[in-house]
Amino acid sequence: MTDEVEIPEDHPRYQSLLTRHRIEAGVEKGITSRQGLIAEGRGESFDYLLGEETLPSADEAERAAAAQLLLAEHAVLSVNGNVAALVPGEIVDLADSTGADIEVNLFNRTDERMQAIADHLHEHGAEDVKGLTADARIPGLEHERAKVDEDGIFTADVVLVPLEDGDRAEALAEMGKTELVIDLNPLSRSPRTAAVPIIDNIIRAVPNMTAHARALADVSREELETIVNEFDRQEALDDAESAIRDL
Ligand code: ATP
Ligand code: MG
Repeated sequence: MTDEVEIPEDHPRYQSLLTRHRIEAGVEKGITSRQGLIAEGRGESFDYLLGEETLPSADEAERAAAAQLLLAEHAVLSVNGNVAALVPGEIVDLADSTGADIEVNLFNRTDERMQAIADHLHEHGAEDVKGLTADARIPGLEHERAKVDEDGIFTADVVLVPLEDGDRAEALAEMGKTELVIDLNPLSRSPRTAAVPIIDNIIRAVPNMTAHARALADVSREELETIVNEFDRQEALDDAESAIRDL
């Protein structure tokens, strides 16, 4: 990134400073909303408590999520302002390695921000970016919050919804979709409604999902199904919660 600030890599809080800077740059670029700054602060506090590293249970969730994306008929990676600011190129890599579509989906939707995020993703190598058509609605949500693409999230069977709001995560789950949620807070409603809750920083989670997807590229559907079936969502949530409580 050209707007990356100089942070010495051996700084003890390197990742956290980099994350903060990326979100700040996202706000300046019109990609991230000011609400996104607050969400970032919330996430950071949980990451601190988790030791700022991927728990073994989160790594398992990332592997199960990769298997779900590979098994999907039509997978979509949902991108909001924080996701676009933090991991634009990494989302493109995950889409490439799993055959998933990318769709911009905003809680605070404005045309300017939708376009800025789509442009930003194109700059990072995305070919097709969905979300701008908005010709379908998620049932049970207020108009603006419900907008999605008919040939994207609306008809997807598997959706990755990182840093998603609880109401929308619930509404998507109610549509019968297999939901993969990345969220650092194991108590938040969004991961609690997910088929695969990934309690990890998106900065670590997305590249690790791509690594798993690449490693699983040639395994049989049966093996992928076994990975999915052996994953225990409650255990993943409980494990992250006890890592925080038993500091
Ligand atoms: P709800 O109970 O409705 O889910 P919430 O407080 O979680 O409420 P938001 O602020 O919209 O609602 O959610 C943002 C979520 O994203 C928070 O749970 C926060 O922990 C998480 N988050 C923020 N930054 C990151 C990050 N870098 N990686 C992973 N999760 C993050
Ligand atoms: Mg939440």
